[in-house]
Amino acid sequence: MVNGLVMARIGVLALQGDFPMHEQRLLALGCQVTQVRTPQDLTGLEGLIWPGGESTTMTRVMTDELRGALREFCSTHPVWGTCAGMIMLSHTDPDPRVRTLELADVHVNRNGWGRQVHSFEADLRVVPELAELRAPVGMFIRAPRITRLGPAVRVLAWYRDEPVAVEHGRILLTTFHPELTGDDRFHRLFLSWILSHQRVAS
Ligand code: GLN
Repeated sequence: MVNGLVMARIGVLALQGDFPMHEQRLLALGCQVTQVRTPQDLTGLEGLIWPGGESTTMTRVMTDELRGALREFCSTHPVWGTCAGMIMLSHTDPDPRVRTLELADVHVNRNGWGRQVHSFEADLRVVPELAELRAPVGMFIRAPRITRLGPAVRVLAWYRDEPVAVEHGRILLTTFHPELTGDDRFHRLFLSWILSHQRVAS
């Protein structure tokens, strides 16, 4: 317990993809981390990270039971989707291989920045609360490209003039992979959401 706040208990969806890197970042920030594979794993968690990977594979391996539990959890707790995780929380073009939860008012083109060979790194422009000495570097790996944002969505970061990180209520979405750079400011932002949620609840 620090300043009356309980250590944050955060889940990392561990169906597929690069969940170990998110887990490491959260552990380094002093969180308690649970790998989530079943609905029961969500019990007692205060927030969830849905990592990147491949949305078609995630769709294939997810049971209906887990899908229902994730829908319920992500509608009522802070949740952060990176890359494929962002796709799974947003809307995307019709494709029978991908069933997203459509919880965020955000539309994406799943591979809108091109294929694996077109992956790239770039400095991002961010809102003042994310600004630090250096601009954050976005790692874009077969990244989704935002095609439409609803009116309640706020942009947190841009690459050139395009939004690449947004928030909608308690849903944080990044098209790139902050867990793969040494910069943990997006993890700290997400943690701050959870801690302020704890303050409201206590
Ligand atoms: N474009 C991929 C997909 O459709 C996501 C890539 C990633 O998560 N790095 O799932």
